[in-house]
Amino acid sequence: MKISIVIPIYNEEGTLNELHRRLTNALLQLAIDDYEVLLIDDGSKDRSWEIMTELSQNDPHIKAIKFSRNFGHHIAITAGMDYASGDAVILMDGDLQDQPEEIQKLYSHFLKGFDVVFGVRKERRHSFLKVFTSKLFIYFINKVIGTEVPINSHIFRIMSRRVVDHLNKLRERDRFITGLISYIGFKQVGIEVIHGQRYAGETKYSWFKLFKLAINTVTSFSSKPLQLASLLGTFISGVSFLAIIYLIFLKITFGVIFSGWTSIMVLILFMGGIQMLLLGILGEYVGRNYAESQHRPLYIIEDIKKIK
Ligand code: UDP
Ligand code: MG
Repeated sequence: MKISIVIPIYNEEGTLNELHRRLTNALLQLAIDDYEVLLIDDGSKDRSWEIMTELSQNDPHIKAIKFSRNFGHHIAITAGMDYASGDAVILMDGDLQDQPEEIQKLYSHFLKGFDVVFGVRKERRHSFLKVFTSKLFIYFINKVIGTEVPINSHIFRIMSRRVVDHLNKLRERDRFITGLISYIGFKQVGIEVIHGQRYAGETKYSWFKLFKLAINTVTSFSSKPLQLASLLGTFISGVSFLAIIYLIFLKITFGVIFSGWTSIMVLILFMGGIQMLLLGILGEYVGRNYAESQHRPLYIIEDIKKIK
């Protein structure tokens, strides 16, 4: 069996050599015929590409792809899978939070006949706030929106060739890889893995990027927000209608006139806010449609080392 390991790299100059050392050690322990490591430089601004080029010159297993700019974590993984030729493909982050030594566990489970074996982080080494918001989001999306997607940017996993082939046919732009993989189906299982500290540098996921990922995830896996918008609209219209009848009734029968700038302002602001929110939800879907209809490529490659 040949295994491909796909690793997205964005400004990881401090980690690459150590990653290479530990990964090579770990892979040599596996009883496999061959392996390749695909490193995808997602528009790094540091020395990552120089180091990747060096690695690819010194180690025949290393293949390197350089994007023309930063396209994003999940797009980088997509490019790696497009070029991977293994019978099984492993996805992992390049900051050594996913431990190369844990590949052994994923692989031995994979051999039991699973199509996807994904790592479940025993103790997540992210900040408390990040773990909390991510768990809250998972809860929200699974309960309220009703998607069955494991919402977690954690990608550490091994997949069979048939899963990768199907995945490579899904070319939607806002790619939430773990969601797409669970969409594909077949036999999938999660096993506990150790999650390490980032080896060097800082997280590349700002709160803004996480927020965008969250919105993309919801809109690409469900149209429930649109239904919720309609429901909310119907509910508010209903309440307003009853209020109108009640107010007119008070005016006609008792001659009551409610005065007050405050109540009117509160109502106007409330209604304005709700309308903006609903427009925003609608806009998200329209925007996605627009982006898809442009048919732009998912990524642009500037340089490739050692891939024919
Ligand atoms: N990454 C990438 N492009 C980006 C952001 C991140 O290729 O725009 C890579 C990054 O180099 C790392 C992986 O994706 O290998 C996960 O990123 P990070 O560790 O910063 O995320 P976190 O673990 O903090 O959620
Ligand atoms: Mg990380």
